[in-house]
Parts: sequence; C-alpha cells; structure tokens
Amino acid sequence: MSFTVDLHLHTTASDGTRTPKELVKLLSQNGLKLVAITDHDSLEGIPEAKRELAYHPDMTLIPGVEISADMDESEVHVLGYHLNEDDAELQKVLAHFRKGREGRGEQMVQKLNEMGIAITWERVVDLAQGGAIARPHVARAMLEKGYITELKEAFDKYIGRGGPAYVRREKMSPEESVELIRKFGGIPVLAHPTYTKDPESLVASLVTKGLAGMEVYYKNYNEETVQSLLAISQRHGLLALGGSDYHANYEGDEVEPGLVGPPVENGQRLLEMGPR
Ligand SMILES: [Zn+2]
Ligand SMILES: [Zn+2]
Repeated sequence: MSFTVDLHLHTTASDGTRTPKELVKLLSQNGLKLVAITDHDSLEGIPEAKRELAYHPDMTLIPGVEISADMDESEVHVLGYHLNEDDAELQKVLAHFRKGREGRGEQMVQKLNEMGIAITWERVVDLAQGGAIARPHVARAMLEKGYITELKEAFDKYIGRGGPAYVRREKMSPEESVELIRKFGGIPVLAHPTYTKDPESLVASLVTKGLAGMEVYYKNYNEETVQSLLAISQRHGLLALGGSDYHANYEGDEVEPGLVGPPVENGQRLLEMGPR
C-alpha cells in the first residue's frame, strides 16, 4: 500500500542525512502529495525545500519543527506545524535550543578554566568518543590532569548540582512546548506518543494548553498500536496524524516515506489550519 501524506521528516538541518532538496526529490519520486519537514529545533531546511518544491507542483509542503521537552527522566517530542520560518523571534528561540544541546558541557569547561583548572573542551569531546558529551567526560579530563584524585571529587567540588562550575540544563515541559508553538501561531501535535509511559494522561494535560493533534500513524506502529492511539485521539478530539520520521540514516527500523502515513482527509484538515 502506498500513502501520499507524510508529516514527520528530517533533513540535514538536524539529524537527517539528505539535504532538504534531496529529500523533496525523493518524496516526489515516492508519490507523496502532502508533506511536512520537521527538523529538531530548526526551520532552517524550509527555504531550500520550498525552492525545490517549485519543480514538483503537485506536492504541498507544510513547514514544521520537532521540539524536545523533558518529562521526569524521559524526553517528549512535540511537532509544531505551520510555523513561519521567517519569524526572527522564533528563529532566535530555536537557535537558543540548539546551542543549549551542545553548549552546556563547553560552558562548564569554561567555568573550570576560569577557576584555574586547565582542561580543554577538545579533550572532553575526545573522551566522549563521538557519543553525547556528559559531565563524567569533564570529570575524566580533570582526573587525567591530576586536578582530582577520583571522579566523584569533580562532582562534589565542582560540577555537581549547585557546584561552582555547574551549568544547569534548561528544561522545558511538554506543556510549555505546546504553549510555545501556539505563541508563534503554530499547530502543536504530540509526536510518537508511545515513547511515554502513559500517553493518555499526557495528552489530557496537553489538550488544556492547546494541543491540536497526535501521531497515530507512525513509522512501524502495528495495527493494535494504531487502534489504541486512535481511540485516545478520538476521546480528546485530536487530529490523528503521523509520518515516517525518516532520517535517511539507514538504521534497521527505518521506514521509507510513502510506506506509512495518516489518511488524506486528516492531512487535508491540518493543511487547512494553516495560513492561506
Ligand atoms: Zn522524535
Ligand atoms: Zn522526528
């Protein structure tokens, strides 16, 4: 079966490997008619996608973004559709989120340097070996230079919560991200709801902040999952949307655009919620 709507796609503007231009070409080849590019904390791929779209007049693009929020110890992702990629204030907010992801470790190293502890950011990056950089990597850089005698000491004296070189991670709740998307005129939709333990109570809370839809037809969801999410969406009056979450990273569970998607009518309703 082939689907013509895909509302969850990534490009090189975040962690996808296809440029916006390459992605639009592929979507057109795969027969898609309504698509949304939803890079993490970024609308930077939209202008290039729109330029390529001019060569594919039977396809419509909704500009989107995927925002990461924190709930307890897990991440919740909220999609924002129909955001204006030319909005300077919104660009500033998104750039701030992007910086926060990379910047926290670097800021801690800077604070340590100011305290006379001469470790380098480059060494901390090396110690992380390509993975997500975290405080233990900072601690190890201090240990190998002899500033501390055990890793724990780094946390106790310097980079533990409240320590002199500690940098707080900015947290945003899922509710706040829904409000943020609304503030900038976008349409908030909960991404891959099964990634949270209790999707229904999260949905109930987000609806009070203006949530408009949730993903139901997602990537490799089986029929049973689709039906249970569909029931939740109906109980809360939400649009049932979704897409492939394609990154072109060729991981085992990747689903090509066109192999999954919401019904055409649902996509059409989302399209009509945007500026005309
Ligand atoms: Zn996600
Ligand atoms: Zn995604």
